[in-house]
Order: sequence, then structure tokens, then C-alpha cells
Amino acid sequence: MTKSLKEALKTHFGFDSFRTKLQEDVVKAVARGDRDVFVCMPTGAGKSLCYQLPALLADGITLVISPLIALIQDQVQRLKDLNIPACSINSKLPVGERRLIMTDLESSSPRLKLLYITPEMVASPSFQPCLTGLCSRGLLSYLAVDEAHCVSQWGHDFRPDYLKLGDLRARLPGVPCLALTATAPKNVQEDIVQSLRLNLPLSFVTPVFRSNLLYDVIFAELLPNPYVHLHAFIKKALAVSSGSNEQGCGIVYCRTREGCEVVAHQLTKLGVSAKPYHAGLKTGDRTDAQNEWMQGKVLVIVATISFGMGVDKANVRFVAHWNLAKSLASYYQESGRAGRDGLPSSCRIYYSRRDKEQINFLIRQEIGRKQAKRGIAKESDKSAITDFEAMVSYCEQESCRHAIISKFFGDKAPNCAGACDCCRNPNVVRAQLEKAAVLSTK
Ligand code: ADP
Ligand code: MG
Ligand code: ZN
Repeated sequence: MTKSLKEALKTHFGFDSFRTKLQEDVVKAVARGDRDVFVCMPTGAGKSLCYQLPALLADGITLVISPLIALIQDQVQRLKDLNIPACSINSKLPVGERRLIMTDLESSSPRLKLLYITPEMVASPSFQPCLTGLCSRGLLSYLAVDEAHCVSQWGHDFRPDYLKLGDLRARLPGVPCLALTATAPKNVQEDIVQSLRLNLPLSFVTPVFRSNLLYDVIFAELLPNPYVHLHAFIKKALAVSSGSNEQGCGIVYCRTREGCEVVAHQLTKLGVSAKPYHAGLKTGDRTDAQNEWMQGKVLVIVATISFGMGVDKANVRFVAHWNLAKSLASYYQESGRAGRDGLPSSCRIYYSRRDKEQINFLIRQEIGRKQAKRGIAKESDKSAITDFEAMVSYCEQESCRHAIISKFFGDKAPNCAGACDCCRNPNVVRAQLEKAAVLSTK
């Protein structure tokens, strides 16, 4: 079977091998078709292939649930470019095209292999006869739920329509369900399994720990000149890769547009090639900044978190956070853009209690706004606060940073072996915390 999977991988997708052992294991498990499967792998790891390849090998149709029409259109186009029969039914589809698809789905042996659909559409009454028809004729091979964290109120992209997928699932007996996500702390993972009613799923989860990432926290308020400090950090981080042929690069994340401008300007003044990237720039300037960074013409991009989605660059030697991330999950994802090539890379937060107070204020303000709009408070409103508290406690604790992150995601504490400041220099970390405590009483 392994051989035929590999052959299919080459024939349909043009890939010589699976990206990772984990990807191969998932594809094998899904292709067996007898169990529900839960997949948690980072962005860019190749999760789509985990259902696309089995979908092609199965007799029937695979139903793929994805939250956004834009994401769906992108995926469907990619598949069409590969000559794979895929399409989507959505509210924007012209009536004529929709009718063609329906006719195919109602035929005795549909040509279509992958049908992408939003959770809203899949729950709509107009789609039910088609769905029941496919199921009763045994033509549904798999139900794949992409971005499955959207089902969880603890997740950041909660979508109420995802909650209906549990019912959908129950109406499709015998169809194996596959849930995929990139970000899932323990509580979100449990929510996914429960809400989608996965039946004793086989779990494939990329271990959280990445030994090549060196984590540390610097208390910015203790520094005479934070920009000079950041500059020195960047110099050092970029020098690490001088052993390989390729010059490394890095990302500095700032919370605000002004922050990006100021930091980029200061770094440039200190002699590092840096450019800002944020939503306030003209589209052209923003694309230029991204391209120049991708091509290595600009070494440092100073960006808001809008930067990085879909950016997959191997030689990112550092990710510095000039402001706190909104949660530990976000921090893990953002800092995880460093070191994709496996070489040592640094992930640093410049922490300050002033920053903490500001973000705390903004989070509470946002919750207040939501509640005012809604008229009632919800239990899940608190999750933004709890999430941020975990981020703060990461900075203010004197314990292994890798262990904090791994535990947060439900993994065992890893063997850090000096890959964080607390394990490498516990005395320095303690001294920093003590000085900061003194400062805050003044
Ligand atoms: P994810 O959903 O996990 O973020 P995608 O499914 O979008 O990732 O895949 C990311 C990229 O990796 C895509 O461009 C995809 O074509 C590519 N990819 C997936 N599997 C392989 C593979 N086995 N070999 C090479 N490239 C792959
Ligand atoms: Mg994906
Ligand atoms: Zn450690």
C-alpha cells in the first residue's frame, strides 16, 4: 500500500516524498478508512494532503468543511491546476454552475472527488437532500473538517456554525471524520473531539517542543536603551547562520503601526536593513517590503501580526516580540516562524509591565464592547483574559520556557538542554525578576 500511496503522491501532486513521517502516517491512517482521525500540525506542514490524497484513492466523494470562501477558492484552484476534480458550493456560485455540480452529485458515479463547503452551507436546508442522497448511496468517502479549532469557544476564530457540524456528523454514520488544525492547546483539542463527536480518534500531533529554538525574555524597562539592545540581539542572531551559505533574516513583531515605524527607523539608524510592514501602508509598499524580505534584500521586517500568515521562509534566524502576544498560543505560533530549517534560532520577548497593563486594558475594553453590543456577558469572554494571563505568566516565571509552552499544549515537559534563558542562566533570570520587582514598587 505504501508504494501505491507514494505513486499516487507523485502522479497527482508531483511530490517525490511525504513531507514528514507524520504526514505519511496520517495519510496511511486516513486511507485505511476505518477510524476517525485528529490532526494537529503547524501551518505549512501539509495538512491538506492528508485528506486530498486519500480522497483521490477512494471511490466516492470527500466533503471538506472550511471556514472561509476565500480559503476554499484558493484550495479548489490549486486542485484544479493539478487536474483534480474539485469544486465548491457556496453562496457566490452562479446558478448555472451550481446546477452542473448538483447534476454530477446526483449521477450514479459522480466525477467529483473533493467538494469544499462552508459550515453555513452544509447546514442549509437546500443542501440536505443532496447530502442525504450521497450518504445513502454510500458515496461519501470522508468528512474532513479543516481549521477545526473554529469549533471551540476557547479558540480565537470561534464560529458558531462549526457547532452544527456535530449534528451533521451524527447524520453521516459510517463516514470517517478527519479534523485538522494548526493551533490547539489541550482544552481546544478536547473541545474538537467532543463537539465533532469524533469516535475514539487516532491522534496525530506534532510535538510542540522544537529544540533549535532558543527562547528568552528581556525586561525592557531595565534597559538603558532597548533599541541598542535589540540591535545587538539581531546582529548576534544573524551571525549564527554565517556558517551556511545563506544569509539569515528575522522578524520583529510590534503591536501598533507606529511601533513598527519607530523600531524600523531606529534599527536602520543603527545600521541594520529593516522595513516596516503594517496595514497602514499602501498595498504596493507592503508587498514590496514583504518581497524584499523574502528575497533577502531586507534582513529585518518590523511588522504587526498581520505579517506571517502563509509566509514560509526557512532561514528566519530570530523572531523578536517588541510587545507581548495576546496569548501563549499566538506567541508559540508567531515565534515558531523562526528556524523552520532546523538551525539554531532565537525567540525573544521584550517584556514590560507597562505593555502588560496596556494590553490588559485593551482586552477588557474589547470585552466590554462585545458585551454592550450583545447585552449579556458570556463565560467565553473570559478566555481572552485567561489566554493573556498565560502569556504574562510565561514572562514572569522563573521556569523553563519550553516546559511552560509544552505543558500549555498538553505535552510533557521536554529536555530543554539549555535552549532557554531559565535553563541556561537561572541566576540572570532571577536577578532580572528581582530588579523588575523593585522597579514596580517605586
Ligand atoms: P497546512 O494546511 O498544514 O498549513 P498546506 O496543506 O496548505 O499546509 O500545505 C503547505 C504547502 O506544502 C503547500 O504548498 C503544499 O503543496 C506543500 N506540500 C504538502 N505536502 C507536501 C509534500 N509531501 N512535499 C512537498 N510539498 C508538500
Ligand atoms: Mg491548511
Ligand atoms: Zn528551558
